[in-house]
Amino acid sequence: MDLRERLKRVANGESMPVEADLALALRGEIPLSELLGIAEEPRRKYFGNKIQVHILDNVRNGYCAEDCGYCAQRKTATEEIPAYSLKKEQEILKEAEVAFRSGAYRFCIVTSGTGPSEKQTVQYADLIRKIKEKYPMRLCLSAGIIKDPHFAQILAEAGLDRYNHNLNTSESHTAEIVTTHTFQDRIQTIENVRDAGISVCSGLIAGMGESPEDLAQVAVRLRSLNVPSIPVNFFLPVPGHNVAHASTLSPDYCLRILCVYRIANPSAEIRIAAGREIHLKDKQQEAFRVGNSLFVSGYLNVKGSDARETYNLIHNAGFEIDADTSELDPEFRSLIMGEQNSPAGAQSGDLRMKTREDLRSFAE
Ligand code: SF4
Repeated sequence: MDLRERLKRVANGESMPVEADLALALRGEIPLSELLGIAEEPRRKYFGNKIQVHILDNVRNGYCAEDCGYCAQRKTATEEIPAYSLKKEQEILKEAEVAFRSGAYRFCIVTSGTGPSEKQTVQYADLIRKIKEKYPMRLCLSAGIIKDPHFAQILAEAGLDRYNHNLNTSESHTAEIVTTHTFQDRIQTIENVRDAGISVCSGLIAGMGESPEDLAQVAVRLRSLNVPSIPVNFFLPVPGHNVAHASTLSPDYCLRILCVYRIANPSAEIRIAAGREIHLKDKQQEAFRVGNSLFVSGYLNVKGSDARETYNLIHNAGFEIDADTSELDPEFRSLIMGEQNSPAGAQSGDLRMKTREDLRSFAE
C-alpha cells in the first residue's frame, strides 16, 4: 500500500497513525494538494464547514519560575513584560462577558506560573462557577502543571469543561526548550485532568528547531492520549525568547503540519492557533479546510487579528462561525451571520507584544 493509501486509512479511522508516514508527509513525499484532500475529509465529516472561535484572557501575567524558551514570561527573560498577579474578579467577569457577546465558542483563561497551589485552585474554581452561572459559555483553563489529582477534582467539581496543557514538542526535544520541568510532568498533568473527567486540550508549538520526526511523534502521542482538542501553534519569536534554533516555517509547511495533525487525530478539534497570521500568511483560508477552530484577538504574549477581521476572513472563505447568536452584541451578530463586512481591525501579520493596556484592558 502506498503512502497516500496508508494516510487515507488513518484519516478514515481504519488504522492508527505511524510516525514514519507522518514524517514523510511533512517532508513532502506527497503533493500538498493531495495531503489537503486527505485531511479535509475527516474535517468535513466531524465539523462540517463550521469554525469555532476561541478568545483567550491572560488573567495572571509574569512572575513565572519556569524557563520555557518560547515564552516572554519565563524567569530568565531579559525583556520587561507587564507582570501582574491575578486580575480582580470583576475585571475577569467583564472580559468573559465581552467574549460571550462577541461570539466566543470558548473562553480560555490563561495564567502564568508553574502550576496552581491548592489555594489558587480553589480561587479558579470559584471564578469558573461565577462565569458559568452568568454566561453559558464553554470554559477552558490553562494554569500549568497539576501534580496533585485532587486539584483536578476541585476544578472538575466547579464545572470546568476543559484544561489546556500543551505537550509543545517531542519528548527528546523538550530539554532544548525548557529545563525546569519535564515532558513527563506534562503527560502527568494531562492524565490527572483527564482522570478527573475534564476534557483535555493539548497541542504543540512548531518552529522551535524540531525535526519533522519530532512533530510526527507529538501527533501520534496526542492520538494515543486520545486528546480531543489540539492547538497547533506556530512559534512567534517574541522579544526575549530563548529558542536557540528556531526553524523557518513556510506557509506550505504550516499547512502540511495542520494536515498531519488532522490525519493522525481525525475527530479532534484542530486549532489554527498562535502565529497563523505571520506564518500562514495568505494561506489562512486554505487552512480552514483542515483546522476547525482558531483564536481571535491574540495569544499568550502577542496580539493577533481582531474578531471583526477574522469573521470576515472566515465568511469570505465560505465557512460559518459556530456560535449561538441569541445573546450576541448586535454588531457581532451581523458579522457572525455574514450580514456585514467590517472595516479591518488589527491586520494579518500585525503582531505586536501585548501591552499592559491590552492585558488589563478593563483595569480600573
Ligand atoms: S509558558 Fe507558562 S510556565 Fe512556561 S514560562 Fe511561560 S508562563 Fe511560565
